[in-house]
Amino acid sequence: MSHPVYIKKSVDQSLPAFLEENAYTQVIVLVDENTKRFCYPAVKALLPKHTLIQIRSGEEHKHLETCTHIWQKMTDANLDRKALCINLGGGVIGDMGGFCAATYKRGIDFIQLPTTLLSQVDASVGGKLGIDFQGFKNHVGVFKDPKAVLIATDFLQTLPFEEIRSGFAEIIKHCLIADPAMWDVICRRDLEEQNWDELVSHSVAIKAKVVEQDPTEKGWRKILNFGHTIGHAVESYMLEQPKRKLLHGEAIAVGMVAEAYLSYKRKLLSEESLMQIEEFIFSIYGKVTLQPEDIAAISPLALQDKKNASGKIQCVLLKSIGEPIIDQVITQKEIQEALKYYQG
Ligand code: NAD
Ligand code: MG
Repeated sequence: MSHPVYIKKSVDQSLPAFLEENAYTQVIVLVDENTKRFCYPAVKALLPKHTLIQIRSGEEHKHLETCTHIWQKMTDANLDRKALCINLGGGVIGDMGGFCAATYKRGIDFIQLPTTLLSQVDASVGGKLGIDFQGFKNHVGVFKDPKAVLIATDFLQTLPFEEIRSGFAEIIKHCLIADPAMWDVICRRDLEEQNWDELVSHSVAIKAKVVEQDPTEKGWRKILNFGHTIGHAVESYMLEQPKRKLLHGEAIAVGMVAEAYLSYKRKLLSEESLMQIEEFIFSIYGKVTLQPEDIAAISPLALQDKKNASGKIQCVLLKSIGEPIIDQVITQKEIQEALKYYQG
C-alpha cells in the first residue's frame, strides 16, 4: 500500500509528525457524539488549530443528508483544496467522511483514525468509501486511499461489548479466508480471551495484502466478501424491520454460517470444518431468529449485491479453512436452503 498504516496503542507523535510533513492549510476533524466524548480529547491534544465537525452516530445517518451537512460545514470553514480531513470514528465516519473529502472540491486529503474494532480491522483499510442510498448499503461511493491510517487500539477500551463482537466477525472472516493457523488460535478462545492488539495487526496485514493485489476488486479481492453475499441481504432486510436491526458483524456471522453450509453442500468444505465454523460462530453470536417469511424476503435482496454480474448472484465459498474460491454462482433457492439450515 502506498500510504502508511500505523498500529499503536495510543495516538502518538506520528500524527503531528504527519501534519508537519504535509503543509496543510487547514485541518478538520470529523466526529460523532461518542467519538467526540471518548476519542477526541486524546487527538485534540496533538493537533494544531482545527475545525470540529460533528455528526450523529449510527448507520441510519450514513446518507446524503449527512454529507450535505459535512460539505456545508467544510464550505463554511472556507476549506481549500490543501486542507486535511481527519476521520475520527468507526466505519460510518470513515466511509462517509472519506467520501465527503474525496468529492469536496474534487478531493481533499483525508486520514483515517478508526476507533471501533470493525473499522480498525476492516473499514479503514482498502480505500472503499461511500454511503447508503434508499436502503441499499454503500450504494454510492468511490475508491480512494487515505493519506495515512492511524490505528490506536486503546480506543477499543470504551467500545460497547456488542461493537467488539461485531468487529470480531471480520477477524473471523480473515482467518477463514487466509489463515487456518490463526483460526485455530481464535476458535479456542472466548471473546473476552482474544488478544486484540495481535488480531488487529494480523487482520490489517491480511486485508492490506489482498487489497494490494487487486485494489478495485476485479478478482481476488472478492475473497473479502466471504459471508457478505448472504450476510448483506440479511442486514438489509433487518434494517427495514422494526426493532430487529443487526450490527454488521452480527449479520456477517449469519452469512458465514450460511455460506460455509453452501460450501459443504457443494462438496468443497468438509463436514468437520463446517461444524467447527458453526459451533464457534453460534457460541459467540447465538442465533438470529428467521421465520420462513423472513427467509423468503431475504433471498431476493442478494440480487442487489455489487459483486454480482449479469444478474447472477456471485458468492465466495470455502474449499477448506484458509482456502476461498471466488465467483461461485448461487441461486435464491440455495440461499433459502442455507438460511433454513442456519435456523436449524
Ligand atoms: P459505527 O461507525 O457506526 O460505530 C459504532 C458505534 O460505536 C457508533 O455508535 C460510534 O459512535 C461508536 N464508537 C465509535 N468509536 C467508539 C469508541 N472508541 N468508544 C465508544 N464508542 C465508539 O460502526 P462500525 O462498526 O465501526 O462501522 C460500520 C460501517 O463500516 C458500515 O457502514 C459499513 O458499511 C462500513 N464498512 C466499510 C468498509 C470499507 O471497506 N470501507 C468495510 C467494512 C465496513
Ligand atoms: Mg464487512
